[in-house]
Amino acid sequence: MMQWTTGLIALKRYNLFRFNRNRMKSPFYSAFKSFKDFPVANKSMFMSQFNLINIYGIRKDEAFQVGHDAEKYLRRNSMIGSITVGLSSGSSGNRGIFLVSEKERAQWVASVLYRVIGLSISQRTVAFFLRANSELYESVRSKILKFNYYNIFDPLEQHWQNLLKTKPDIIVAQPSVLIRLIEISNIEAVPWKVQKVISVAEVLTLEDSKRIEVWSGTSINQVYQCTEGFLAHSCKNGKIHWNSDSILLEKVWLNEVQYKPIITDLKRSTQPIIRYEMNDILTEGKCDCGLKSDVIQSIDGRSDDVFEWINNKTKIILFPDFIRRTIVFSHPGIIDYTIVKNNKYLELWIDGPEHAFDAARNALHKLLESKGICTKINKSTKPWRADNGKKKRVINSTP
Ligand SMILES: [Zn+2]
Repeated sequence: MMQWTTGLIALKRYNLFRFNRNRMKSPFYSAFKSFKDFPVANKSMFMSQFNLINIYGIRKDEAFQVGHDAEKYLRRNSMIGSITVGLSSGSSGNRGIFLVSEKERAQWVASVLYRVIGLSISQRTVAFFLRANSELYESVRSKILKFNYYNIFDPLEQHWQNLLKTKPDIIVAQPSVLIRLIEISNIEAVPWKVQKVISVAEVLTLEDSKRIEVWSGTSINQVYQCTEGFLAHSCKNGKIHWNSDSILLEKVWLNEVQYKPIITDLKRSTQPIIRYEMNDILTEGKCDCGLKSDVIQSIDGRSDDVFEWINNKTKIILFPDFIRRTIVFSHPGIIDYTIVKNNKYLELWIDGPEHAFDAARNALHKLLESKGICTKINKSTKPWRADNGKKKRVINSTP
């Protein structure tokens, strides 16, 4: 244990050294003397200084166009030279643009493997579902792991047939992709032994987690990330721990238990992530597994998905977690749902038996009434989808 702790401290020192050397290449960050001088970066500041923050002088308009065109299939990939462009979800004009090098991507996979998959003597097959082209990850080769890559923009029906043939030991995918695979497979449980399922990229809800565990026959490990940054992972107790050797964490407390994280990612180089205030709301947790890092009890959704009303000049706030639970527990037959708050109404879409919609609407009305809110809930015929295919269930579209 002692050696392990010393190793982690050494690793953190090494990461800090590299971080400091790298940030001097950024015209924006090289101007500051010490850590406390760095401004807290929210999305709008991060985007307005985009050209000066990244170390290659990549222009924001060019990067956005490349990311946008790749999403619309107007080009084969989202790369500028060897740098990959990623767009975060959000309404158009308000989207984050992220840059990562091949090396950073390879490091991400290596960290996930080391932290989450662990080591084993026998060779294991990994099915890796990605939003990008697979060639980038070829640099991560391993004698004990054999990778099969699946692009999530290709038809998942075909991927499922391949999974049946290759019988992977480990599946890495977004929860919404896993749920879609469950639907396509049309079976209660996979017909081979899966050792691990790793959930990445999106918030894993309790209801999805249970469904995936039943289907895969194994417990689900969760990786918490921000674009290609690997922030936290679940331990042997199933609790999510911050990667404290590469992430410096500051907390903005919203109440006694919930906070918004401000992160500095010591491993990001192309576009340094320094004191970046994330949009997530996290609940602080505890764990006795022996890892010293801070624990996240739950990821309670993006803060732009908080619903707000003004009633008698008082601001009334509903956290997405309340809304989720209200809907899920209103009817046992609810398979899926999305709820969107616009200027006037709530738009609710429910996938489930005939009475499920009414049950969910009634439960929501009760919740709203208890908060003194009177609003209409309309029935939607199709689920809400973000431009980049990411799945969200509770969406605030009020400008
Ligand atoms: Zn733990």
